[in-house]
Parts: sequence; C-alpha cells; structure tokens
Amino acid sequence: AYVISGDCIDVLDRSCVEVCPVDCIYEGSRKAYIHPDECVDCGACEPVCPVTAIAYRDDVPAGQAEFVEDNARFFLEP
Ligand code: SF4
Repeated sequence: AYVISGDCIDVLDRSCVEVCPVDCIYEGSRKAYIHPDECVDCGACEPVCPVTAIAYRDDVPAGQAEFVEDNARFFLEP
C-alpha cells in the first residue's frame, strides 16, 4: 500500500482523493490517510501530491517511517 507522510499535515490538498480509483484515501482532521487494505497500489496518487507526501510504503523516507503505522492506526480507531 501507499502511505501519506507528515508533509500532508495542514495541507490536505485532496488531489490524491480525486484520482484514487478505489476511493481508499480518507481525510482526517489535519492530513489524509490511505487505507492499507483497500489501496490497490496503482500509484496514481503519488505524482499528483503537490508536497510529495505520498510514497509506496517501502519507499517512505526514514524520517517519515512513523507515518506507515500512523496510517494503519487511523483505520483501527473507532
Ligand atoms: Fe488509491 Fe492508487 Fe494511491 Fe492506492 S496507490 S491510494 S489505490 S490512488
């Protein structure tokens, strides 16, 4: 699955939401999150992000590693 890093915080451009073919990008209060089980790895969201916040989970920069778990956790909370 693809992951949205902290660079999205308070940006929430939503371009990714518009291009995702399976509507698996959800909006939190300060950033967007990609549902790890619904993402089909099409890669469409990655190039449209104006702040380059989206990456395939294995390619997430070390400094943003916490957001891999943060994305998963978002969907566990009620
Ligand atoms: Fe949606 Fe494709 Fe991005 Fe996954 S990689 S979140 S399916 S646009």
